[in-house]
Amino acid sequence: MSILVVGSVALDTVETPFARAEETLGGAASYFTTAASLYSQVNLVAVVGSDFPREHLDFWRGRPVNLAGLQICEGRTFRWAARYHMDMNARDTLDTQLGVYAGFHPVIPDEYRDCELLFLANIQPELQMEVLEQAPRARLTVLDTMELWITTTRAQLTEVIQRVDILLMSEEEVRQYTNRASLVSGVRYLLDLGLKHVVVKQGSYGALLFSANGTFFSAPTFPLEEVIDPTGAGDAFAGGFLGYLSTVEPNSDGQYAIYDIRRGVVHGNIIGSFVCEDFSIGRLRSLTMDDVADRYRILVECSHFDPLWRFGA
Ligand code: AMP
Repeated sequence: MSILVVGSVALDTVETPFARAEETLGGAASYFTTAASLYSQVNLVAVVGSDFPREHLDFWRGRPVNLAGLQICEGRTFRWAARYHMDMNARDTLDTQLGVYAGFHPVIPDEYRDCELLFLANIQPELQMEVLEQAPRARLTVLDTMELWITTTRAQLTEVIQRVDILLMSEEEVRQYTNRASLVSGVRYLLDLGLKHVVVKQGSYGALLFSANGTFFSAPTFPLEEVIDPTGAGDAFAGGFLGYLSTVEPNSDGQYAIYDIRRGVVHGNIIGSFVCEDFSIGRLRSLTMDDVADRYRILVECSHFDPLWRFGA
């Protein structure tokens, strides 16, 4: 089953305490597209400027990626710069330049219209809404966002949240958006907006899945000895999550089984861990499903514990 994605395609400049990469391929949709195309065809909706290096387009053309919805406009590609702290779960955004995104309106090509899985990657909420409205057949809609949109376009973001099935947010974003100190209380607030599931991304600590039916699942992260650049881990998480779901059949009522949603969260964590091993999409270029399966096996082993215990045993 193919996946439709709208989001940023960018040129990123990233600095960590140990290295720096300038104007590399970035953007939420870039990470998502590259990650999810390991599982299924991805239909990309985005815009780049006339300065966007053609080699990135050639790379996607070599994978199951449909670029019919990628507009190339006169002007500058979206640019973003950030600096990571020694604890690479924390970063400061140094610069955001929307460039051609400032005047962009997504147009979904006819060939994308039957897509049943929709990912609204990080971009202005009004653009996410325009895509939602053009994709009435989407059976599962997943939304991601960022601090900038929580602070500058909260009302529009809320409208989008009220229209989707699943929201992905970092723990910090949940606190920012809900203004609640307790994560569980913040998630309750979000679920009350009508979401079926909320996935809370906790960087190097894993991810939590909260569902409207009251169930809860905690997925561990794959421990890495060396993190080169965590940029895009959240978007790659989404790529693994929806990528996995694109390979399984939903129930007869069109809903995905909770155990598949959980497996999807584990795939998300695994793909997110690989992204951190290089700048940009570097590690995803050579990633195979065998690599993913190896980490899946290790995570099952390291997070399984015996349900049988007794006091004083
Ligand atoms: P992540 O590390 O998963 O939060 O994603 C970082 C990516 O999001 C970078 O590649 C940026 O180019 C992109 N990005 C940063 N800020 C924004 C923004 N405000 N809107 C859309 N994309 C953004």
